[in-house]
Amino acid sequence: NYYVSIHINTLIDDVLVLLNSSHRANDIEFILHLDPSLNALYLDRELIKQALLNLLINAIQAIKLNGKIEISTMLSVNQKYQLIQIKDSGEGIKPELMDKIFMPFFTTKMSGTGLGLSMVQKIISSHKGKISVKHNEDSKGITVEVALPID
Ligand code: ADP
Ligand code: MG
Repeated sequence: NYYVSIHINTLIDDVLVLLNSSHRANDIEFILHLDPSLNALYLDRELIKQALLNLLINAIQAIKLNGKIEISTMLSVNQKYQLIQIKDSGEGIKPELMDKIFMPFFTTKMSGTGLGLSMVQKIISSHKGKISVKHNEDSKGITVEVALPID
């Protein structure tokens, strides 16, 4: 793998194409708010796609029957990062489990590996980025935010 100059909005489009029909089997509405004014970043394209794919599959799996997933991109307030926010209306995370979800092999799923988020965290920190998770205030579910530094 190697680094290329690429727009995060393009990566999101790529990953949405990768989500196959079984992932989309549930009744899920995807809503995109992609800031078209963001500059390209220097990124490992395949690794960031893997990370985003993992986050979207988690969001889909958290939605049992129907719901929505909102994907937003924007500049951070201090203008040092580009942000990717993935907000789902799924079942959410019990507060007491919140600090465990990045641990390798932690899963609440019958056939989960618990390796997704730990891998995502590795990929983001190898880009000197940050990842955070919070409960939604206006609805159920969580929002995962990935911050990638603007070099
Ligand atoms: P896995 O998907 O194999 O369980 P992950 O590392 O991807 O492993 O996620 C770990 C755990 O974090 C999940 O089992 C789940 O409990 C929780 N989790 C991750 N993403 C979400 C989400 N979008 N909504 C609710 N819980 C989540
Ligand atoms: Mg997962």
